[in-house]
Amino acid sequence: MSLALDAPAQSAPPEADDGVWLECIACGGQFAPFDDVRFTCDDCGGLFEVRYAAEPTWDDFEGEGVWRYAAALPFDEGVSLPEGHTPLHEVPRLREDLGVNRLRIKHEGMNPTGSFKDRGMTVGVRVARELGVGRLACASTGNTSAALAAYGARAGMETLVLLPAGKVAAGKVAQASLHDARILEVDGNFDACLDIVQELATRGEVYLLNSLNPFRLEGQKTIGFEILEEFRDDHGRFPDRIVLPVGNAGNTAALYKGFRELVTAGAVEPEEVPALTGVQAAGAAPMVEAVEEGNDGIRRWDSVETVATAIRIGNPVNAPKALPGIRATGGTAVAVEDEAITEAQRDLAREGVGVEPASAASVAGLRKLREQGRVDADEDVVCLTTGHLLKDPEAAYEAGDDPEPVANSTEAVLEHIGAR
Ligand SMILES: *Cc1c(COP(=O)(O)O)cnc(C)c1O
Ligand SMILES: [Zn+2]
Repeated sequence: MSLALDAPAQSAPPEADDGVWLECIACGGQFAPFDDVRFTCDDCGGLFEVRYAAEPTWDDFEGEGVWRYAAALPFDEGVSLPEGHTPLHEVPRLREDLGVNRLRIKHEGMNPTGSFKDRGMTVGVRVARELGVGRLACASTGNTSAALAAYGARAGMETLVLLPAGKVAAGKVAQASLHDARILEVDGNFDACLDIVQELATRGEVYLLNSLNPFRLEGQKTIGFEILEEFRDDHGRFPDRIVLPVGNAGNTAALYKGFRELVTAGAVEPEEVPALTGVQAAGAAPMVEAVEEGNDGIRRWDSVETVATAIRIGNPVNAPKALPGIRATGGTAVAVEDEAITEAQRDLAREGVGVEPASAASVAGLRKLREQGRVDADEDVVCLTTGHLLKDPEAAYEAGDDPEPVANSTEAVLEHIGAR
């Protein structure tokens, strides 16, 4: 295991509020978290991580959902709907078909607004309240906007979302709209929307709740905590590998950070940390490119396209945090074609697990890695499915079989189904 995992996740705190501070991953600069609004390092523009004086371990966790892990979060409770405590499904037929020792599906589509984004928002909106900001905002491929709208509504705060026009699945726009976000449709892709929201945040017009916000990732790291705890309870060990869809690479970064904290606290041995394995759509795969070419950073893809609209992203902002995570855990990254994504969506549906296309990318990626012999048959694997089937009804309808018209009589129905 590489140095990155053995290195302490903690360092000496500055004059921190309650043992919590922000630390720049590029220059190590430290900042108090709640006196001013800042998203990137004042000194070098690097990404922030949230740091804690405390090193919580398994015994410190109690209750259910994201706030079970309060000992590893900046507050004891948040703006909650509540979120987390999602199922870890068994999928025996798919496991058999893919040929791995164990396969579990962590279905994040079962969160209150139907995606893992809720885990980030319960913490992020709580922080926004602490800071006393006025307007919350995000750029979104859809699910972030749905979650922000719901959590903003819960907190009684104003929300503004920027969406790439014509590229957001119907369920997600409907959620943002009904939860009363102000929705701006931008004539550009997600990356362009994020550029604009970042600019608005820099000018002090909005509080940014994209995954560039380090507090969102604190909530999302609890996905990894839940997987480890539940898998160990069921199987007496941790999984060898976690396969997850990658858009902005927030989850990849968040899981890696959470695992490093557990290693530092002595709750997990470095060699027990699951190999983080990222999957992107072939039409939007800058992270895969960086991993394959061994680059330290990503090259921004200006034109991206995929049926998996939630990961239709050409400039993953969390790449500087996620690439080291993939490497340090012995993971990898792989790109899958849209046809393979849709096939995996059907595979999961046949086991009763309904997911949106981006989610199915994890299973499509695992299939490809098995076929290429890059994942071994004796591995215990958890695939993350990030969003619910109903998020993208059109894609589900396309992937499934068409309804069959039939005349209005029992005889006609019997005849049609071949019962006579
Ligand atoms: C946001 C999202 C992703 C991408 O997650 P990152 O943390 O940005 O990599 C994947 N799938 C779904 C359904 C999403 O909503
Ligand atoms: Zn810095």
